[in-house]
Amino acid sequence: MNNYDVIVIGAGSVGVPVALSLAEMGVKSLVLDKNASPGQGENKKAIGGIRATHSDPGKILTCLLSLEVFSTWQERHGDNIEWLKGGYVFPVYRENEEKALKGILPIQRKYGLNIDFVSPEKIQEVVPGINMEGLRGGTFSPDDGSASPLRAVNAFYRRAKELGADFRFKEEVEKIVVREGKVQGVKARGGTYDAPVVVDAAGPFSKTVCETAGVHIPVTPDSHEAAITEPVKSFFTAMVVDLRPGPDSKNYYFYQNSLGQIVFCITPEPLIVGDDRRETSVFLTQVGARMVRLLPRLKNLRVRRMWRGLYPMTPDGSPLVGWNTQVQGLLHATGMCGQGFMLGPGVGQVVARMITGKTTEQDKIILQGFDPYRKFGGQEALK
Ligand SMILES: Cc1cc2nc3c(=O)[nH]c(=O)nc-3n(C[C@H](O)[C@H](O)[C@H](O)COP(=O)(O)OP(=O)(O)OC[C@H]3O[C@@H](n4cnc5c(N)ncnc54)[C@H](O)[C@@H]3O)c2cc1C
Repeated sequence: MNNYDVIVIGAGSVGVPVALSLAEMGVKSLVLDKNASPGQGENKKAIGGIRATHSDPGKILTCLLSLEVFSTWQERHGDNIEWLKGGYVFPVYRENEEKALKGILPIQRKYGLNIDFVSPEKIQEVVPGINMEGLRGGTFSPDDGSASPLRAVNAFYRRAKELGADFRFKEEVEKIVVREGKVQGVKARGGTYDAPVVVDAAGPFSKTVCETAGVHIPVTPDSHEAAITEPVKSFFTAMVVDLRPGPDSKNYYFYQNSLGQIVFCITPEPLIVGDDRRETSVFLTQVGARMVRLLPRLKNLRVRRMWRGLYPMTPDGSPLVGWNTQVQGLLHATGMCGQGFMLGPGVGQVVARMITGKTTEQDKIILQGFDPYRKFGGQEALK
């Protein structure tokens, strides 16, 4: 009863699409999660941004795969996941951001991203009311978008189950069982499950889970806050990313979702390492002032709710996807940093092809960039 081809640890942004892609390829998997239902870890903390606008080829290619899934889901399967093709805008007010964004355009285009550096007037057309003072233009990638993380993960979950994947909730994995250098399965609270392949999709808790197999994986959680406003009539749809730093913070980003609510987030500087999920009194004033300066039309909006979640961070801001070389059968699909929701479906497909031995030339490029054993020297420009 407890024998599977694959066990996936974690029913989150990555684990659920992994199970879905495996099921589509006829592979029987079991997904275990300590929470009561899918997406209750960091998945539901994401604000829903989905972009292939990255500087790393692996991330661009993976997110293009994901965009195909998100953008066609309702048409193919009927569930409304609140997909909105609003694009991503990076408005530019300073020379250094202009140089940096223009510098990565060739690589973005080489790997298939539809993106341009556009005029201030075009930026104003996409984000009506944006502060024009000093605006030099910016990048616009119209095929990016957004969706609801909880609706999406639940849609993927239902489809994976229909195709034969098993899920067990409230089932915390206590140990990855290894014998003579090979994975045997996992020991969880409720029992032991056997499989020759175990996928580590435990997000910010990958490090702790993998340590039970004697494996060190460089994933460290750090905390990020977000909030959502009341709904108002739609007046822009793009995700707006302001790269300029501010007091105790780096970039911030926001968009208006398909229900008319503005959803927003900021990157603290320095990063707040750890797993504290309590909201702070600093966040709203910090991000609010910056947002209203950029887009004064936001000033009368009332905030409905705020929350704080964790990024599963890696030393260079890129994911860790690959076979463990120390423990045979252990596959890492983790370290998604601030982009696990958008990377999930693409990573799911690549992982399923790795397990079935069907990787493509494109997968090789992705896996090179996401190699868990790479040298962590650089930093992804748009991490
Ligand atoms: C404020 C904020 C905004 C964000 N915005 C975006 C965004 O716009 N776009 C985007 O792409 N990303 C965004 N992210 C990042 C995104 O949420 C994460 O990168 C993503 O959810 C990570 O996916 P994951 O599957 O690795 O982890 P999770 O979704 O957390 O899944 C891991 C699962 O593993 C389970 N688990 C862990 N340990 C065990 C165990 N021992 N036994 C059983 N189960 C276990 C957990 O319960 C969890 O369900 C945001 C994050 C935050 C905090």
